[in-house]
Amino acid sequence: MSEVIYRKYRPQTFKEVVGQNPIKITLQNEILSGNLAHAYLFVGPRGTGKTTLARLFARSLNCLHRGKEEAEPCNQCEICQMITSNRSLDIIEIDAASNTGVDNVRENIIANSQVPPFNRQGYKVFIIDEVHMLSKSAFNALLKTLEEPPKQIIFILATTEIHKVPETIISRCQRFDFKKIPIKDVVHRLSEIIEWEKVTVPDDILSEIAHHSEGCMRDAESLLGQVISLSNGKVTEELASLVLPRSNWLEIDVLVEALCVHNLATALNQINKLVNEGLDLHTFTSDLIDYLRQIMLYQIIGPTFILDFDESLTKAIQKHAAEFPLADLSRLISVLLEKLAIKESLIDQLPLELACVEFLLEKKAQIQTASGEDYTPTESKSYTPSESGSDIKKIQNSWNKIITDAKDFNHSLSAILQTAHPVNLDRNIVVIGLEFAFHRDQLHKPQIKNHLSGILESILERKVGVDFVVDENYQENHQVFKGRNESGIGEALDTFGGRIV
Ligand SMILES: [Zn+2]
Repeated sequence: MSEVIYRKYRPQTFKEVVGQNPIKITLQNEILSGNLAHAYLFVGPRGTGKTTLARLFARSLNCLHRGKEEAEPCNQCEICQMITSNRSLDIIEIDAASNTGVDNVRENIIANSQVPPFNRQGYKVFIIDEVHMLSKSAFNALLKTLEEPPKQIIFILATTEIHKVPETIISRCQRFDFKKIPIKDVVHRLSEIIEWEKVTVPDDILSEIAHHSEGCMRDAESLLGQVISLSNGKVTEELASLVLPRSNWLEIDVLVEALCVHNLATALNQINKLVNEGLDLHTFTSDLIDYLRQIMLYQIIGPTFILDFDESLTKAIQKHAAEFPLADLSRLISVLLEKLAIKESLIDQLPLELACVEFLLEKKAQIQTASGEDYTPTESKSYTPSESGSDIKKIQNSWNKIITDAKDFNHSLSAILQTAHPVNLDRNIVVIGLEFAFHRDQLHKPQIKNHLSGILESILERKVGVDFVVDENYQENHQVFKGRNESGIGEALDTFGGRIV
């Protein structure tokens, strides 16, 4: 079934070939203008359409019914049909991987190329696949032919390993570099195929297939064939999981989100949940690294960096790129690479768990250094609004501005600050009094504290941290603060160096 799909839907026109647009356009222009090279070199990863395009090119050049303005072969005439069914004597395909001897090259190429094509209006085309496999003497024989190319003979050399092809050969060819096929193009082609095959396959599974095939259309079609052959016209996740390694991306996103918001418990839970479900940890970890790398690249390069994911994952990556500090991303990737190197572990998931723990411990230490102390939810305390020091006054006087500035970042932060008051400035930490413990816990997130510190720093023009406490004398203190602030009296008094009690 898998092979059947691949052969059944082999593109018959340039239009049907997925990807490689610049190459298709150039080849078609050469067909139309008749301005052909003697030798072409198709370079690129496997399954990206090299032999498909070589055959199409050969067919188009020889097609009996192709109009002057048309680059596509008719696929109906005798010659087109002979080439399609591999019966044409003018199209000679050689797999260099199995014909490495110089004699074969002499026999197949040199002698044969002296004989004009049977189709007198057309071309004899030699397609040599995996050309880098030729022996040195075979290359020399080929080179001689390329130096004095007989009329109506075209060579198309294809290779996945260009560094093994001699420079003398390369320099005599028109070279085309084939690219891996983007995921979305693979998915598009697969959805066409399932429509023709009249089977239902969920989009998630098509994306998974595209990911696993890594830009190789042949692998994608083969995997799709395997999945379809198990089904009865309807492919389910369960069936697909028999063929495809488990889908990881959505699970990876859950873990990345937990690390992004510094939630170690969720991160470790996620890892253990997946391990219990039979996850392949090695694949998961390397996919996780790839995912973080894409977030990092997107953050640095911006929207011109093309993410090779489907729509929902692209959105998730864009969101993480906006939230995850670059230094954290690069640190997390390094820690994961370090742990990935641990080959033997008593507990399989331990290296991955340790990576998460180490990363977040470091992060916590950084935050503490920045704020100058440990976070243990501060006990409720009774505070008297401090009037000492000009800095705390500055903050008290700017409180309305702080609330407005906070709104741009987070509406609930701004709403809670409206019910809060600054109580003192202790060892460079601005302490903010709140009415409820759950507000304190809600605000005690690194992003929020960082943002609020930033606002306070812009007012004080120096580095400060921020902390929140539940004020036991909340009602009384908040009344005093509000009265002072709303009357604007505090500000006026400060301007004249006065005090209120
Ligand atoms: Zn034709």
